Amino acid sequence: MSTTTIRTCPSCSATLDVVNHEGVELDRCPAGHGIWLDKGELRAVVLSEVADRPAEEEVQALDAAALDHGQGLLAEVARGARNCPVCNDPMKITEYAGSGVAIDECRLHGVWLDDGELARIEAYAEGLRNQARGGAAGSKARTTVAGLDVPADLLATIRTANVPPPA
Ligand SMILES: [Zn+2]
Ligand SMILES: [Zn+2]
Repeated sequence: MSTTTIRTCPSCSATLDVVNHEGVELDRCPAGHGIWLDKGELRAVVLSEVADRPAEEEVQALDAAALDHGQGLLAEVARGARNCPVCNDPMKITEYAGSGVAIDECRLHGVWLDDGELARIEAYAEGLRNQARGGAAGSKARTTVAGLDVPADLLATIRTANVPPPA
């Protein structure tokens, strides 16, 4: 267990709720402004596989990444850096692993993802995995529901994520 420090949303200052997402405890803004992941948690979430993600989401995420050319990063920079919920220092804005998704990162404590960004990163990572296997992304193959450990409300949040359509 980590410490019981109360963390607040860097966007609206609401107290963050602890939610379980694919077996990883995350801090989420109740007003839907985003999710805080402690150092290492984003990696854990990205490495876990969601069996029922629609293949179209992965295709969209891969297309969006391919077409982004740093625009997500520019948009995030224009919006301004947020402060780390743990140390309150301004975070660094960085693109996650070629995904076209710009995130706020505190090198010491973790990352802040805006609403929908975690879903895009996960879909992107799974799309890459499926491509590497010669699998679902690109075809219309559907996978089956299995072992989801996501609260229904969080699932609803990530399912309605605003993934930009390919231009
Ligand atoms: Zn908020
Ligand atoms: Zn920090």
